[in-house]
Amino acid sequence: MKCLVCGKEFQGTVCPICEFPIVEIPGDYEAGLRTLQPVIRSHREAFAEKIHIGVMIFEYEIDNGTIRETGSRKKFFGKVAEMMHRKKWLDTVFENPLSRKSMDIHMVICVDGRKDDNRTVSIPTPKTEGKISLGIVCEDTFCFYLIVKDEKGNEVTSRKMEIVR
Ligand SMILES: [Zn+2]
Repeated sequence: MKCLVCGKEFQGTVCPICEFPIVEIPGDYEAGLRTLQPVIRSHREAFAEKIHIGVMIFEYEIDNGTIRETGSRKKFFGKVAEMMHRKKWLDTVFENPLSRKSMDIHMVICVDGRKDDNRTVSIPTPKTEGKISLGIVCEDTFCFYLIVKDEKGNEVTSRKMEIVR
């Protein structure tokens, strides 16, 4: 069964991710869906308030010509509700790893404060010199894109990704 709110495939009677129950309605499927639409919409809006999307940021220092990782931290773009059809950028700018064709970015996705998912997204590096910014846009409660922007405003976008897997 696929959850009507978050798209998660699951067995049982309640979605393990967003807690939307399986609803049984007698009669026509389409008519049932129409009846349920307001309930699905309001649950989806409430769910979008609870999901935070972020990235892991790694810090380096150069010591006697050797590059060393000195730490990492999570940086959140915000809630899915704030990024619905609207790009949201991190307030930090980063070095563009121009020598590499692509960057592997570690995404952090939290539902209700729990770290729900952790995945790496490979995204091409912008072709120009200068700093880069990272952004997110959500297409609906199910999907998002990661965006990299260079100083001139040229954007490179990831493939579409599901928020809940
Ligand atoms: Zn769900």
